[in-house]
Amino acid sequence: MNTLVCNGTVVAPSRMIENGAVLFAGGMITDVGPRADVEARYYRAHGQRARLGTIDASKGIIMPGFINSHHHLYSTFARGMSIPGTPARNFTEVLEKLWWKLDNELSVEDVYYSAMVPLLECVRNGVTTIIDHHESQGLQIGVLDVLRQAVEKTGIRAALCLGSSDRYRKGWEGVVENARFLGQLRKKPSRLVSAMVGLHAAFTVNDETLAASVAVADEFNAGLHIHCAEDLADQKDSLKKYGMRVVARLKKFAALGEKTLLVHCVHVDEREMNIIRDSGSMVVHNPESNMNNAVGCADVLRMLSKGITVGLGSDGMSSDMLAQMRCAYLLQRHDKKDPRLAFCEAPAMLLGNNARIAGRIVARKLGKLEKGAPADIVILDYVPPTPLLRDNFLGHLLFGMVDAAADTVLCDGKVLLRRKKFVGIDEELIGEHSRRAAARFWKRIARA
Ligand SMILES: [Zn+2]
Repeated sequence: MNTLVCNGTVVAPSRMIENGAVLFAGGMITDVGPRADVEARYYRAHGQRARLGTIDASKGIIMPGFINSHHHLYSTFARGMSIPGTPARNFTEVLEKLWWKLDNELSVEDVYYSAMVPLLECVRNGVTTIIDHHESQGLQIGVLDVLRQAVEKTGIRAALCLGSSDRYRKGWEGVVENARFLGQLRKKPSRLVSAMVGLHAAFTVNDETLAASVAVADEFNAGLHIHCAEDLADQKDSLKKYGMRVVARLKKFAALGEKTLLVHCVHVDEREMNIIRDSGSMVVHNPESNMNNAVGCADVLRMLSKGITVGLGSDGMSSDMLAQMRCAYLLQRHDKKDPRLAFCEAPAMLLGNNARIAGRIVARKLGKLEKGAPADIVILDYVPPTPLLRDNFLGHLLFGMVDAAADTVLCDGKVLLRRKKFVGIDEELIGEHSRRAAARFWKRIARA
């Protein structure tokens, strides 16, 4: 079935087309342009009586689905969870008091429902591709299958991995699970799901686990996905245990490269940035999460000026990528006390660099509306209150579209959200199951 998304402004995003249209069939975009031109070409090729379905954008903005380069679907049950004792004083205590307790107790049901909720939130926010980093030390073997089920049920794209970690001396289990899942996808590829090799963070991964993970990544030509210098504690640990900084250690183990995702890089120095650049590794900035954990502000503008591909993630804080973009923009200005900064860079991280990152990891032409790209499309319910032009698009994006709701979302040509309602998914029922599972989980965690 050929379908035309029309009656809106197409932001491709390299070009803007007023009264534009996107034609797709079989999950792939086959034509993009002014509506009259696309329709004329279609009927010329297929005959005047050919059938053509339409999706009316109601004068909204037609864009490629957004990409989240670093998510944690498993983080849902932390919402509203009470944490006994005194509040965490620093990043290490945040991990010990909250995240490491939580990820050691997750059951199969918990992993499934804690993933379904943010996956639906991704759709609600027009996000059609995520790169997830899963942690569940108490449930490792087989856990990526549970996440895969949730992703396929929702219908968006995801690159999945399990963050191997030796904090409970179970790094080998994580390596085995990442290899098992990559092997499964090699035998039976999925249209929506792909995989990486996850490592929790340099300071929780011993040399053996690091070397084994690099070997798995090499075997499957997959990317490595690791938290890198999120807090100063990571650097201190690396210097103390290994006599070298985090990025130097990753280089020593051949963990860097064009498919490697280094998450955060808040505390990397100039030399480390140069190593990252020379290796072609990619960085993911997570401004809301960094502010929440009070770990500092990554110098993303410096990294970008060096030519490093820096994308944007939410780190499990939310599934709203437009909000992460605005936060990145505000944080750079606030941190450097300079109101000239980040106006172009923050949107470029979301719309340009996340597409490059996803292109290398998921190996598809994502984040673009053009012939040959998957039909991953969001229609934003945004009626510009001032003239919207190619030259002022970023102003509308940062100060207007950032708060606009997604009206319609398609992934792989399938409509997931239409007129702000989920298609074929009972959101209320999933919420109900999630609340029940979370209540049981909280009781278990209180006893642990
Ligand atoms: Zn993270």
